[in-house]
Amino acid sequence: MTTITSNLQAVRDAIATAATEAGRSPDDVSLLAVSKTFTPDAIREAYQAGQTCFAESYVQEALNKIAALGDLPIEWHFIGPIQSNKTRAIAEHFARVHSVDRLKIAERLSAQRPAHLPPLQVCLQVNISGEASKSGMPPDEVAQLAMKVAQLPHLNLRGLMTVPAPSDDVAAQRAAFAQLRELRDQLDRQGLRLDTLSMGMSHDFPAAIAEGATMVRIGSAIFGARDYPQDGLSNNP
Ligand SMILES: *Cc1c(COP(=O)(O)O)cnc(C)c1O
Repeated sequence: MTTITSNLQAVRDAIATAATEAGRSPDDVSLLAVSKTFTPDAIREAYQAGQTCFAESYVQEALNKIAALGDLPIEWHFIGPIQSNKTRAIAEHFARVHSVDRLKIAERLSAQRPAHLPPLQVCLQVNISGEASKSGMPPDEVAQLAMKVAQLPHLNLRGLMTVPAPSDDVAAQRAAFAQLRELRDQLDRQGLRLDTLSMGMSHDFPAAIAEGATMVRIGSAIFGARDYPQDGLSNNP
């Protein structure tokens, strides 16, 4: 077994354990493999081990890999900061976007989604921890944006995403993830049904699953350490 294959199995086992401990079904948590900075060969290997959904953070890097892996029916997700001049490429090449945090970006993605494709699935990125340098919108603006995004014709609003400030303290991790869940519940009471909570990365996914994550975004625990730290979490496009 290759390292990627065995890492993937270990991550799947850990997801199942965390779900079971939380009284949830492991089937209710899907695994998104974050392949930014890793090669098409590494992605191919993970695909052969049964992983079908992959996420990228940088548009040009992603387009190169999508082309190189065009023979595989991979579902591509975009999770990085979105600049206006990149919305067309995202609308044309991805199934889902997790990092929508402005109406202007949502409108462009909807307008640029090709007619022959199903609606672009989107999550709104929320800045739970309130760090100035991070992407994502303030929690108190989410309801208003969500109502507008839900009206856009070529988008399908699926849920919320967050990247909390990194912490080794499980209680702090859970508190941040609980805030995103509460926000989802609040929208639910306002009549907006969202089925996705995209939260949890390699260092904190068990806490995210305990708080209701339906999709965890995991890179280094599958593919190994990246060459540069915290990439994609900063403002580096
Ligand atoms: C890089 C990244 C991940 C994965 O991080 P790991 O620590 O490698 O699991 C998840 N979400 C976002 C938004 C990222 O940029």
